[in-house]
Amino acid sequence: MFEKILIANRGEIALRIQRACRELGIKTVVVHSEADRDAKYVKLADESVCIGPASSSLSYLNVPAIISAAEVTDAQAIHPGYGFLSENADFAERVETSGFVFIGPKAETIRLMGDKVSAKNAMKAAQVPCVPGSDGELPEDPKEVVKIARAVGYPVIIKAAGGGGGRGMRVVHTEAALVNAVQMTKQEAGSFFGNPAVYMEKYLENPRHVEIQVLADQHGSAIYLGERDCSMQRRHQKVIEEAPAPQIPARLINRIGERCADACRKIGYRGAGTFEFLYENGEFYFIEMNTRVQVEHPVTEMITGVDIVQEQIRVAFGEKLRYKQKDIALRGHAIECRINAEDPFTFVPCPGKIEFYHPAGGPGIRVDTHIYQGYTVPSHYDSMVAKVIAYGDTRDQAIRRMRIALSEMSIQGIKTNIPLHQELMQDARFIEGGTSIHYLEQKLAAKGEVKL
Ligand code: ADP
Repeated sequence: MFEKILIANRGEIALRIQRACRELGIKTVVVHSEADRDAKYVKLADESVCIGPASSSLSYLNVPAIISAAEVTDAQAIHPGYGFLSENADFAERVETSGFVFIGPKAETIRLMGDKVSAKNAMKAAQVPCVPGSDGELPEDPKEVVKIARAVGYPVIIKAAGGGGGRGMRVVHTEAALVNAVQMTKQEAGSFFGNPAVYMEKYLENPRHVEIQVLADQHGSAIYLGERDCSMQRRHQKVIEEAPAPQIPARLINRIGERCADACRKIGYRGAGTFEFLYENGEFYFIEMNTRVQVEHPVTEMITGVDIVQEQIRVAFGEKLRYKQKDIALRGHAIECRINAEDPFTFVPCPGKIEFYHPAGGPGIRVDTHIYQGYTVPSHYDSMVAKVIAYGDTRDQAIRRMRIALSEMSIQGIKTNIPLHQELMQDARFIEGGTSIHYLEQKLAAKGEVKL
């Protein structure tokens, strides 16, 4: 096994990876910005290296500084976590050409799946069902674009091939608005993502977001670890995730899961990954693949007993997968609430000092967080400060345990979205299960709190 791994991330995921390493007997190096110097997980690591000032472009995105930190500390591998450089193919390549192991897929796979047009083509070739739409990038000729939209059928959505983070998308309801919308999306795509290519999909009006977790080794084996439902979203950002997805028959999950595992074998995938789908009327439609560990991985860990981060490390070292598909049995139900430092109703970020902290606990509760009493949430990064995960034999038990956990958890000094989660855990439609990706925004709009 590796002797030392460098963790190129911050916050809860840096601590999560550190714990996986310690359990495997691997020493850890944590790189951090000046703003994170005093974080407890930095002190808990075997070694730490300051790689730059608070601004992430000068620290967590500073490739030469991260590579030098790995060199001076004699780390053998780099775990990128999620966000920051985790899906940057050039970084993965630099890591490997500098003589370190990148804990993730090969750079060429990240590149293939990072461009949504090439990702969709690869998935079609692997017989993974995709959202109907244009055959790749939209052509220049407006007449051709109009023809394609007629064939797809309105409403359609124009999406940037290089898009991410819910940006670079535009819904079009009528032919009159089409050509202009394509032009605008192209311009935005060019300036945001440095790639003006756009493509068209049928806009699904009431889908759920259901994703499949996969694990693959470097020896041609791949398995899927069931699904997660991440439909509770605001501005295309996930707020609550759960596994399994309520009310979807196991045979449909197994069929799509097999397809995903098969696609991994076809594209030579290695490590952990997620196939994201929209699910509507009993059908799955691939939208994109994430080639890294996800924020919501704990809900899958809770119902499968598989430690996804440890498996990423083992596979990166070259070990064979320790599980066959038949070893994966789903048991019970898990729900995750993302706790953000923000106003629960206006969603304005609220960094600052945590004056008092009391964590949640009890049967079936897992809290993944790097915060503590006296910790100052910096203003420079994402506002997520903790993940509360509740496990139960049934979905109902998981919801009850989550309610208790949220009522116990106390974070004073900053505002958090705990009150929003408490409200959602009492929401009749959530309790019923199976709400669409628009549900939360519609609910908030109906309360008059947020304009759509
Ligand atoms: P990103 O990489 O920016 O997250 P995705 O392709 O994963 O982009 O889409 C993000 C979200 O946008 C989805 O979860 C869904 O809410 C919405 N979306 C994307 N494509 C469609 C579509 N064809 N129909 C309806 N909604 C869509």
